[in-house]
Amino acid sequence: MNNRQLFSQHLGQTSEFPLGLEIEKAKGLYMYDKNGKSYMDLISGIGVSSIGHRHPAVLSAIREQTDKYLHLMVYGEFVEAPQVQLAKALCDTLPDHLNNVFLVNSGSEATEGALKLAKRYTGRPKIVSCINAYHGSTSGALAAGGNESLKTPFRPLTPEVYHIVFGDEAYLETIDERTAAVIIEPIQGEAGVRIASPDYFKALRKRCDEMGCLLIYDEVQCGVGRSGTFWAFEQLDAAPDILLSAKGLGGGMPIGAFISSKDIMHSLTHDPILGHISTFGGHPVSAAAALATVNFLTESNLIEQAYAKGELFKSLLIHDKIKEVRGKGLMLAVAFESFDFLKTLIDHLIEKGFLTDWFLFCDDAMRIAPPLTIEKGEIKMACSAILQAIDEVSS
Ligand code: PMP
Repeated sequence: MNNRQLFSQHLGQTSEFPLGLEIEKAKGLYMYDKNGKSYMDLISGIGVSSIGHRHPAVLSAIREQTDKYLHLMVYGEFVEAPQVQLAKALCDTLPDHLNNVFLVNSGSEATEGALKLAKRYTGRPKIVSCINAYHGSTSGALAAGGNESLKTPFRPLTPEVYHIVFGDEAYLETIDERTAAVIIEPIQGEAGVRIASPDYFKALRKRCDEMGCLLIYDEVQCGVGRSGTFWAFEQLDAAPDILLSAKGLGGGMPIGAFISSKDIMHSLTHDPILGHISTFGGHPVSAAAALATVNFLTESNLIEQAYAKGELFKSLLIHDKIKEVRGKGLMLAVAFESFDFLKTLIDHLIEKGFLTDWFLFCDDAMRIAPPLTIEKGEIKMACSAILQAIDEVSS
């Protein structure tokens, strides 16, 4: 059997229609298949390859770390330099109260840890989240997510979750004195890149303070520079009590984090002593790669440029068939008339060597989330390919 056959026969699948490309090598903005065909990566593995594939800074950090040690001990027992230095580098990007970083392996695990932390700290049972939010695929994170179709087949899911409408202040009353936390994406990703006003987040912060509950921002997708600031919430006048990160943080390696004040985080560790345990959390090789990514991003001007690059996409993607281009920085959704049109377009773009994608909870929009290293000339090339492909599939 060839690899494509093994993929169908022996690899657990997440959908009936996987893209199924077999890539041999990836570098920078491009992936290459075994025939040498190149694909411009306009989605960066869903926001993961934040500084491009196999960035030299990430590769050398990985090599240096593999020369020292791989796994030593379960997370949190030993002092591991990549973990503590990453924690410090993350805290340096954040307001003073977000000064304690718990490292895990993924976005879903960051959500799970944050929900447990909020329940433990407040002693309350209730979690509030937004319709069409996505916070991960493990049971607790799935329960917090706001799309019923993903959840129904797996009920009962454990946490007590109440949903509100993203961006609508009328629903803030749902947050009450039984609420441990509200979990929300500063920019909704899988809902198809939805933005709410800064006033909404101010009102949300005020309501959480009044009710004594914690505010969790899920920046797994919108964080680490994608929106034009290191954290998307820097553009809001409302900071969280707990912040989640993953995806782009590792520069291509698996890692996640939930971040709070030391005081809040402490509630995980006292009586009973084992509040949250992970064998591989903050794996030293991933932590070294993440540290290199964070350092590279903060030392370059890529984050400042992300906003202008996003605006360039918006100014070029003008066509009768495009209903709207929404988003911030390099986190964009291009809306079309129908799912069928979009599906044909995405397939056609793959044939042309451009990789785009759709969203979990938005049928008619194309995802654009390239590495932050994409250059203006490459954006122009991508946009003309998209416009040309629209004409080709329309005719
Ligand atoms: N939160 C958000 C906002 C996400 O976009 C995702 C992944 N799409 C997750 C959490 C879950 O991350 P992971 O797939 O790494 O578990």
